[in-house]
Amino acid sequence: MIFQDPMTSLNPTLTIGTQIVESLRRHLDLSREQARRRAVEILEEVEIADAGRRLEDYPHRYSGGMRQRVMIAIATACRPKLLIADEPTTALDVTVQASVLDLLHDLRRHHRMALLLITHDMGVVAEMADEVVVMYAGQVVEQAPTLELFDHTEHPYTEALLAALPQVDGADVGRRRLAAIPGRPPSLLEPAATCRFAPRCPYASRADGCASSMPELRAIRPNHYARTMHPE
Ligand code: SF4
Repeated sequence: MIFQDPMTSLNPTLTIGTQIVESLRRHLDLSREQARRRAVEILEEVEIADAGRRLEDYPHRYSGGMRQRVMIAIATACRPKLLIADEPTTALDVTVQASVLDLLHDLRRHHRMALLLITHDMGVVAEMADEVVVMYAGQVVEQAPTLELFDHTEHPYTEALLAALPQVDGADVGRRRLAAIPGRPPSLLEPAATCRFAPRCPYASRADGCASSMPELRAIRPNHYARTMHPE
């Protein structure tokens, strides 16, 4: 698993090499020397230049993007079948973000590894995902293959997430206000027995049943599920 902020995942008092070798030796039956050679290969795979020398550096000598590459190296060192990436590029600037996503994409293909990507950025979803599960307040509210979800959005929360994406084309570019979702997510200490999105849903007052019961997650079309009383 890799997390949002690589600086809080890496131990600042240990060299990068020690941290990679530790995971290799714990999970694979390698000698110290074999593990070190393997660590160099893994760092090269995540495109860290001069990998042999950089193993001796501490995390503070790496930039944010390089630290995230190191985290990816540690997480994929033992060739997992599944990599869980929780907002892996949120702490990075946009150009570094793109290169880290490219790297994840390449590693996924190269090692035939599944990638579970957790993100609020629908642009990243469009680029990376085959299948999307949209969650709100601890519940799945919509699930579909990516193209289907973008072309035929069924749940008002998914619609609001897409509307919140900045647009860079059109005549009024630069003058358009960015859409925001009003209100706040509900407390999950005492979750409502009705639709959890209702207090923020623009259709709630016009639609029947929203405030009286919890909508089930149901198939709207083959492979497309939504938790709403009123799809479309
Ligand atoms: S059930 Fe009603 S309130 Fe909830 S998302 Fe659907 S339309 Fe909105």
